[in-house]
Amino acid sequence: MFLIHGTYHFRPKRVAFRNDYCLPCARPRRSVQIRTFDAEHIFWIPLVPIGFRNRWYCTVCERQTDVNVRTRRGFKWAGLLILLMFCAAGWAAPMEAGSEVPIWLLRIGAPMGAALLIVHLFRTRGEPSRKEQLTSIPPATDMVCPFCEVDMMMISSKCSCPKCGIVRL
Ligand SMILES: [Zn+2]
Ligand SMILES: [Zn+2]
Repeated sequence: MFLIHGTYHFRPKRVAFRNDYCLPCARPRRSVQIRTFDAEHIFWIPLVPIGFRNRWYCTVCERQTDVNVRTRRGFKWAGLLILLMFCAAGWAAPMEAGSEVPIWLLRIGAPMGAALLIVHLFRTRGEPSRKEQLTSIPPATDMVCPFCEVDMMMISSKCSCPKCGIVRL
């Protein structure tokens, strides 16, 4: 039986904002932390409450700032290994009438793909990690709430908006 399930995000509330590094945008962005009450649903009936969850969303692309949309390097190295194995299999395979095309594709195509991947891995080596990206971003200094446009207030070393309660991080 086909089971439809997923997660509901109830009662979204803006709780904080900060200067962030957005991975989908690949540049520094303002992000907003949204708190929701999450519950698992099966056939749209919320059954399992998970509780409150906080997530950072980019104000430009509206995606989660810390979810990597690009293929991780580990996967690329694994892909390289597979391409090299395909290449070896292509050269090891006996040349039979009728299968010349796929065999030559393995012999020539796989090493060409592997070479492109090696160049890509070499060029992108030493890209800063998310932690390093975040430390290079100056913290937000807004004195006015970007959502209500009222003056922020300092309460016990936390800067927050008296109207909507959002915290500057
Ligand atoms: Zn973004
Ligand atoms: Zn506000």
